[in-house]
Amino acid sequence: MDINSIDHILDEAAKNSQPIWQVVLSEEQKDSGMTADEIRGRVEEAYRVMKTAAVSGISSDMKSISGLTGGDAARYYNHIRNRKNVLGAASAKAMAYALATGGYNAAMGVIVAAPTAGAAGILPGVLIAAQEEYGLAERDIINALITASGIGAVIASRASISGASGGCQAECGSAAAMAAAALCEAMGCTPRQCVNAAALALKNSLGLVCDPVAGLVEVPCIKRNGIYAVLAMAAADMAMAGIESFIPPDEVIDAMFQIGMNMPPCLKETAEGGLAVTPTGLAAKRRIN
Ligand code: SF4
Repeated sequence: MDINSIDHILDEAAKNSQPIWQVVLSEEQKDSGMTADEIRGRVEEAYRVMKTAAVSGISSDMKSISGLTGGDAARYYNHIRNRKNVLGAASAKAMAYALATGGYNAAMGVIVAAPTAGAAGILPGVLIAAQEEYGLAERDIINALITASGIGAVIASRASISGASGGCQAECGSAAAMAAAALCEAMGCTPRQCVNAAALALKNSLGLVCDPVAGLVEVPCIKRNGIYAVLAMAAADMAMAGIESFIPPDEVIDAMFQIGMNMPPCLKETAEGGLAVTPTGLAAKRRIN
């Protein structure tokens, strides 16, 4: 998909009085040569895989191959079932499903990279929870996923969605931006609200480093998915209230790129900095090797 500016998406949406998902779908049709139905079919299949991963991850206490992680999603879901959660129902569920998908990925289950495997829990966590809690139609969720893909495409084009090149702000931050915009779309917000939700989520992820313990996408990645799903919901809620990002979305993305460029290599997926080199992180690495 050849979209490199949020402003362009907004202009197209305004010009044609369309929601973002329609603008993105048209661009994807031009780019891929597929019909709208074919693209929607693919997105439906992706959502089916997302739901399977989230539900499988939550209903089991599977361990990762390394043995470092496992069971937290089920633990948190029980906490919700016992009505002990302080978060509201939707955000608590979003966190549970995001943890579940992250855990499922670490246990080698099939997930949808959204935009990457490491950040795969945030977008499905938010949308599955919202669908369950607010009774959203499947069609609205598919539209929301198309909007998310447009936001992700702009970030990939202007900056990066890779922890190795931009730190975790580029992975979990981008996923949170996509999820925030998607949630707004699913809830019937304006294009402007959707992109502001994305900007609010991304700007509050700036500087987030990539520091996986032992170089595995487990610690801190899985719990980070859970927390950033909640951040995405908070950003969407602000945007729904009419709060806008002072810095426009494209400029936030450009700032994220600059920060990523200035981040030292030890904080970009090399496992040579941050949490990866704490005494506990290093001990975990020795235990595995
Ligand atoms: S810490 Fe690194 S590996 Fe883990 S989710 Fe973030 S970017 Fe991906």
